[in-house]
Amino acid sequence: MNKTIAVVRGDGIGPEIMAQALAVLDRVAEKFGHTFAYAEAPIGGNAVDRFGDPLPQASLEACLAADSVLLSAVGGPKWDHAPKEKRPERGLLRLRAGLGLYANLRPARLFGELRDASPLKPEIADRGINFIVVRELIGGAYFGEHSTEKLDGEYYAKDVMGYSEHEIARIARVGFETAAKRRKKLCSVDKANVLDSSKLWRKVVTEIAKEYPDVTLSHMYVDNCAMQIVRDPAQFDVIVTENLFGDILSDEASMVSGSIGVIPSSSLGDGARGLYEPIHGSAPDLAGTDQANPIGMILSAAMLLRFSFGMTEEAATIERAVEALLAEGFRTADTMSAGKTPLGCRGTGAEIRKKI
Ligand code: NAD
Repeated sequence: MNKTIAVVRGDGIGPEIMAQALAVLDRVAEKFGHTFAYAEAPIGGNAVDRFGDPLPQASLEACLAADSVLLSAVGGPKWDHAPKEKRPERGLLRLRAGLGLYANLRPARLFGELRDASPLKPEIADRGINFIVVRELIGGAYFGEHSTEKLDGEYYAKDVMGYSEHEIARIARVGFETAAKRRKKLCSVDKANVLDSSKLWRKVVTEIAKEYPDVTLSHMYVDNCAMQIVRDPAQFDVIVTENLFGDILSDEASMVSGSIGVIPSSSLGDGARGLYEPIHGSAPDLAGTDQANPIGMILSAAMLLRFSFGMTEEAATIERAVEALLAEGFRTADTMSAGKTPLGCRGTGAEIRKKI
């Protein structure tokens, strides 16, 4: 296959970890006979410095023209006090909206070799953590009406959490499709005992379930789900939930699986193009030191191959190489423990390439 990937190198450690991900993609292309072309799309603080805009029009167009988008991370102290429109994260929010990405998929997976990094007790972690949170990304309270007014001598603020049937149906389908490719269990999370938007959510998800007879659907209240993720995470395969609940649960889920440096994510809309990025930020404290962990970035590239290009075996090859590297005891500083062999960002990328 010939594919074009828009590449957002970003700020801080971004360019270093992206270099490793692209080298891994090149190795996969060589092994499987594909050609990947990379279209540079400067976004974030570096784009503010060079073009005065965190999302220059040319970068958005490069992303829209590409088959998929790979992004490292943006931001840093240099731009912390910039006006709102010139802040790096504005570029990212505008990019997600510009690409029409309404579903965010975040895997929570504990690599057996990194189980010391999980804050959970060994008897819970050892049962295995391997699930995905599918979060609705462009609806709900974050996008509803916001207002602050003075009422009876004090301020009163409100944020409207609203969902229409079609918004629920399309994210439910992403949940069912994701579960269909895995262990075929979908848990829909809501607060239907209190919220009208959740009652509609539950009704629509139950309706969509008829299209996926092979997937077993369950429902859970969000407060219970927050407990279950730390009590018995092995029960979950795929969780689908609305924006605000998903924001909180996906952070909780990534925490139980250990280091922030190893977790990829994807944002999807209609069609095959998606935005793939590690969940961490630009770690300005590590920039230029060759200490950043490139695994989250490299696994984001694997996710891109699987979800955007349907390259299941290529993605699995990368994931197995990462597992082998960890099994052999190589560690970057963030996951280091006694008896393991230290490696830098470049060394980690080189070892993973060697194993592909
Ligand atoms: P961060 O994720 O960058 O860093 C948090 C901690 O984790 C730091 O100690 C850092 O050294 C460590 N860390 C992160 N990634 C690592 C990796 N790959 N390997 C080893 N250690 C790693 O979060 P922060 O410090 O809150 O934010 C730094 C900057 O990143 C800010 O400007 C913030 O706005 C931005 N940010 C960007 C994104 C994004 O681009 N999606 C997400 C979060 C934060």
